Amino acid sequence: MGNCFSNSGKSPAPTEPSAATAASDMNLDPSTAPRSPSPTHPPTTKPIKPTPIGPVLGRPMEDVRHTYSIGKELGRGQFGVTHLCTNKATGQQFACKTIAKRKLTNAEDIEDVRREVQIMHHLTGQPNIVELKGAYEDKHSVHLVMELCAGGELFDRIIAKGHFSERAAASLLRTIVQIVHTCHSMGVMHRDLKPENFLLLSKAEDAPLKATDFGLSVFFKPGEVFRDIVGSAYYIAPEVLKRKYGPEVDIWSIGVMLYILLCGVPPFWSESEHGIFKAILEAPVDLKSDPWPSISDGAKDLVKKMLCKDPQKRLTAFEVLNHPWIKEDGEAPDTPLDNAVLNRLKQFRELNKFKQVALRVIAGCLSEEEIRGLKEMFKNMDSDNSGTITAEELRQGLLQQGTKLSEAEVKQLLEAADADGNGTIDYDEFITATMHLNRMDREEHLFTAFQYFDKDNSGYITKEELEQALKEKGFYETKDIKEIISEADADNDGRINYEEFVAMMRKSSPEPANPKKRRVVVL
Ligand code: ADP
Repeated sequence: MGNCFSNSGKSPAPTEPSAATAASDMNLDPSTAPRSPSPTHPPTTKPIKPTPIGPVLGRPMEDVRHTYSIGKELGRGQFGVTHLCTNKATGQQFACKTIAKRKLTNAEDIEDVRREVQIMHHLTGQPNIVELKGAYEDKHSVHLVMELCAGGELFDRIIAKGHFSERAAASLLRTIVQIVHTCHSMGVMHRDLKPENFLLLSKAEDAPLKATDFGLSVFFKPGEVFRDIVGSAYYIAPEVLKRKYGPEVDIWSIGVMLYILLCGVPPFWSESEHGIFKAILEAPVDLKSDPWPSISDGAKDLVKKMLCKDPQKRLTAFEVLNHPWIKEDGEAPDTPLDNAVLNRLKQFRELNKFKQVALRVIAGCLSEEEIRGLKEMFKNMDSDNSGTITAEELRQGLLQQGTKLSEAEVKQLLEAADADGNGTIDYDEFITATMHLNRMDREEHLFTAFQYFDKDNSGYITKEELEQALKEKGFYETKDIKEIISEADADNDGRINYEEFVAMMRKSSPEPANPKKRRVVVL
């Protein structure tokens, strides 16, 4: 990956992908970025004072209070206390989860927090997942600034309602299964799905649901076996207790949630934790006692198939969405599910070359924690560990995530990402094409990209400079340069100033492939 502050970035050896370490010097939160450059005269970058590196996040320490004022407490969990916080510059409100470092007593605890941050970055831009705005570490704490979910926990709505109508439960379950599928297709297993970890974005009846608390989540590879017992007692799958499990555990947990939504009590209940575990392992699911006689056969069938004790026979996310009960009101047809990698590749394909190169520069500025997940996905797809993904590997990789593509479609996607046209996707190309496009919006990233193009620091990108930058980044087909320039050149002077560049970058980024993705919960 390239260095953010110079133009001499050199790619790592293809077999050993490494992230942009230089990026760790950067402030990744737009609101705390160096003052916005003036539209027409970008300032030169100030030298960076060395700051101590935080032992948890592994990058320079930074005071979250420079940017945010911390307000009232919103809730607390095992490790963290979450407060309302307000961006001092914009007045925008967020939630700030503060984890006291003294509670992180061993290397494993530290790794857990690091992973939580990496996973939240990885899932950035997914609808129905709480978005991480920035992670900060100071002397005493780690702070995760997240999108604010002002509607409280789904759990509280369940308590307030007792139990749900079948229609409402089906609608809610659909959203939740979509979230699980998204996580799984991004190589992430949540491991702690329960109603407390679903928050509502606002107090409105139809507020979107957001999954949160990725504190127990892990990256997984297909076929990988996990053995540590984690989760919350009522929701733990039997195979977790047997210390041999994979992503199917998430389906079990949401099966437990569905059971509770329908009848108001957990399926495996006892006074003690030991008793709960025994019931999970041995007891059949009670679908006979009140109120089950009045619940439809379809609902019972789905509960049974989600709470199947054998993970191999349990329904997958895709199968749940295609179960007749969940489809009763006509939604969730048999179409393939969203696939984040596929969507991002498709979006990338729609961008003009200028934007593609800018993204490549920005990709080089992302921190290790921001691209950790994509690195995992790259390694998963690069099945022969060659450092490049071939068309066949791409096809197989997407197939493993449940997306079947024709030869022609695979070829199109490969060509879109394959900047240097050598027929394969290398690590840098993969990160560039699959990082979420919202990274492009950040002011400091845009400024870095502008500087990259504006080789002579004149405040303008000329046709020659663009041509040179495209070639440097491996785009040799530069015949449409004039067209690209004119597309952005609002004042028609044949060159692009910073204001025009920002406007071009922010203009008409393609919409998410599936505009219906942002589901709402009708309670
Ligand atoms: P822990 O991982 O320590 O269990 P959580 O992430 O579950 O902590 O957060 C604790 C509580 O803080 C949650 O139950 C919720 O009430 C509140 N909370 C967490 N994230 C947000 C958010 N993004 N918006 C509003 N409240 C939140």
